[in-house]
Amino acid sequence: MVERHPTRYLAEEYERLVRENLNWELKVLESASEPICIVDGKEVLMLCANNYLNLATHPKVVNAMIEATRKYGAGAGSDRSISGNMILHEELDRRLAKFKRAPASLTFQTGFMVNEGLIPQLADKGDLLVSDELNHGSIIDGCRLSRADRAIYKHKDVEDLARVMEEAEKHDPPYNHIWIITDGVFSMDGDTAPLKDIAKIAKEHGAGVYVDDAHGEGVLGEGGRGIVSHYGLRRDEVHVEMGTFSKAFGVIGGHITGSEELRNFAYNKARSWLLSGAVPPGVAAACIAAIEVLETEPEHVRRVWENRNHLLDALQDAGFDTGNTETPIIPVMCGKSKAARDLADYLWTKGIFVLPIFYPMVARDKARIRVQVCTKHTTEQLERAAEAFKEGGKKLGII
Ligand code: PMP
Repeated sequence: MVERHPTRYLAEEYERLVRENLNWELKVLESASEPICIVDGKEVLMLCANNYLNLATHPKVVNAMIEATRKYGAGAGSDRSISGNMILHEELDRRLAKFKRAPASLTFQTGFMVNEGLIPQLADKGDLLVSDELNHGSIIDGCRLSRADRAIYKHKDVEDLARVMEEAEKHDPPYNHIWIITDGVFSMDGDTAPLKDIAKIAKEHGAGVYVDDAHGEGVLGEGGRGIVSHYGLRRDEVHVEMGTFSKAFGVIGGHITGSEELRNFAYNKARSWLLSGAVPPGVAAACIAAIEVLETEPEHVRRVWENRNHLLDALQDAGFDTGNTETPIIPVMCGKSKAARDLADYLWTKGIFVLPIFYPMVARDKARIRVQVCTKHTTEQLERAAEAFKEGGKKLGII
């Protein structure tokens, strides 16, 4: 018999990650997620939160959560598919659709659960999923859970996508359904998908378009309505607009927007929706309030762009390679994992909290620091950050 140990490999794998500088080191946030916060007992400038518009601490959002929790309790008591479909969940679905100017939306517990639960239902045996090579891990998992064939095209490469689609037409028997899936904003680079071209190619082949706009919402498009609005696309050109309440909206929860048919299909088929507890009523109420803030207080979106442009200019002036960012996600390229980690460590000693990103999240030689700018950063804070980056970058030979 083979000599087998049930768990020894867990420690061995962790040790390998540590040896290769690939392990996560978890930090603990001891205050609210604000520009200045307490992390691991230290006061730091936060430059790695998804809370782009600082809505996580917006009084209207916080109060909505408190009031709904008082009225409806801490939990929904069940899955939405059973008895947990509260009036607030339905209102949130409606309010989101109205905000997105679409016929229908459906909210999930998280964005990850949308991709993991819906994609395998949209495409089955005899179908094809076509995915950008840099799509988010939740899309990759959703595609892997599907029984459909899969094809990957080069990052944002419209010609390569056209080639993949031509190839797909030769498949025998012909594919029943084809979906092109892309991040709207790529989370490690801050660049946007060429959604207009993608929609055009999809139309030529009768394919569906599925865009994950987790990092575009609240930032791109009219009043932060996201990438579909940004590119002025119609609902019959982008069939699933997926997003999350965990980033610019400042709360938590995933969602899809599109047709009534999409909504009906999704809540009858996506197992992550059907078989998992509903988000608490306080969460639903806070998400509704966050949508209201976006509708009534346009200054937050304006300010995050001003801040982003200010910091990007300063980092570029210092000589950093900031990739192809088009959003408040700024990648500061460092090369090897160790360089990114050393720069993040240096910045930490200067009271600046940033995230080093390395393999397997990005290619081995494309390690970087991902900087995320938010609405409430002050000019003085951003300039202090840029100065510390410059000092650290010089010290480590990155610039
Ligand atoms: N898609 C993308 C592009 C993301 O960045 C994320 C969050 N990291 C998700 C989906 C998952 O969203 P959520 O946090 O709501 O699970």
